[in-house]
Amino acid sequence: MLSEQERKRDQNRYQILKTLHFRGPLQRFELANLCDIRKSSITSIVNELVDLDLVRPQDYQRKRSPLILDDTRRYAAAVSLSPSLVRVAKVSLTGTFQRINEKTVPEGTGLRKLLNIAVEMLKKEFRGKIKKAIGIGISCPGLIDSSKGVCLQAANIPDSQNMPIRNFFKKHFALPLHVENDVRCSLWASVWFEQFLKDFQNVFYVEITHGVGSALLINGTIIEGAHFTAGEFGHIKAGDNGQNCLCGKKDCLETYCNIPAISKAIRQISPAYRDVYSAGDIARCANGNKRVTNVLDKAVGRMVKILAPLIASLDPQALVLGNQEPLFYNTIIPFLHKHMLSEHKAMAQFGPQIFIAKSGKDASLKGIAGLVIEDYFKKINDK
Ligand SMILES: [Zn+2]
Repeated sequence: MLSEQERKRDQNRYQILKTLHFRGPLQRFELANLCDIRKSSITSIVNELVDLDLVRPQDYQRKRSPLILDDTRRYAAAVSLSPSLVRVAKVSLTGTFQRINEKTVPEGTGLRKLLNIAVEMLKKEFRGKIKKAIGIGISCPGLIDSSKGVCLQAANIPDSQNMPIRNFFKKHFALPLHVENDVRCSLWASVWFEQFLKDFQNVFYVEITHGVGSALLINGTIIEGAHFTAGEFGHIKAGDNGQNCLCGKKDCLETYCNIPAISKAIRQISPAYRDVYSAGDIARCANGNKRVTNVLDKAVGRMVKILAPLIASLDPQALVLGNQEPLFYNTIIPFLHKHMLSEHKAMAQFGPQIFIAKSGKDASLKGIAGLVIEDYFKKINDK
């Protein structure tokens, strides 16, 4: 059990690091004011954080230089797993990728194999420098129980049922370990690293990739739900064409408006579009072409039928579109606005602001690093 004094010290350290993260560079007296901590305490805590290589003067030559987070020494190790790609990265405290490495794998590779690949890649990256890592984060698609670090099920990765991911890594690394759903990680990349959301407490995050999913931030907390399925709206029925979904059901929203479904519908318009496969391809050929934009209009319409009631119930400040080429989202935003308004007239007055996340396709990798970093700031355990 922590003593009251230790708890207070943890709280103060977290407050200082978080303030430097969102508001830095700052002088000691500014930190004292912003964090509401006595100046004498600030000095001792800051000295400790400097010794831990977490904080440094912005300018070493200047006597009273403002302080910043030290983005040169400590790092979070981040892993992102997906059906066809394993990526590992060293991410600095400020979110820059110091190293990034990836390995493509054939679709249909089982989760255990993906985990083995990730462990080997991390061992190679770390070499003897593991002491500078503050923790390892693993982002994985599917239903994730982050408190236990278990993947309950990932529809598009075989052998993923009840896989104890955290325990798997624990056998190889003596570091704090975090496991989280990939879409929730992407949301966190926006909240923690993209400063435009720093004052937002209620955010609805949507991504359209190989799947369609969302994640929720309510009163500043990421919501997992009672069965870890919060935000999984991609598997709600959205049509009657009898289209097979990877989850085993038919006509899920994903089968109508994920990137493969939209690009396939565009390829069917004309042989001129036979090379349209990615979100970027879709956006480029949509430019001013009525038949292509009709496909997008229809797909977005199906999504908004499901999205609008969710937005109306939660009343978020922001709707963030992420983990995809911004050009694609720029192309669909006019349809999003149109369908939201037609589903729910009050959106004109009370609808959320719509943003496109900047972290693009690195979002889940960056977000899991952000979760590792924030957690470490809350409870520094390598004194
Ligand atoms: Zn489905």
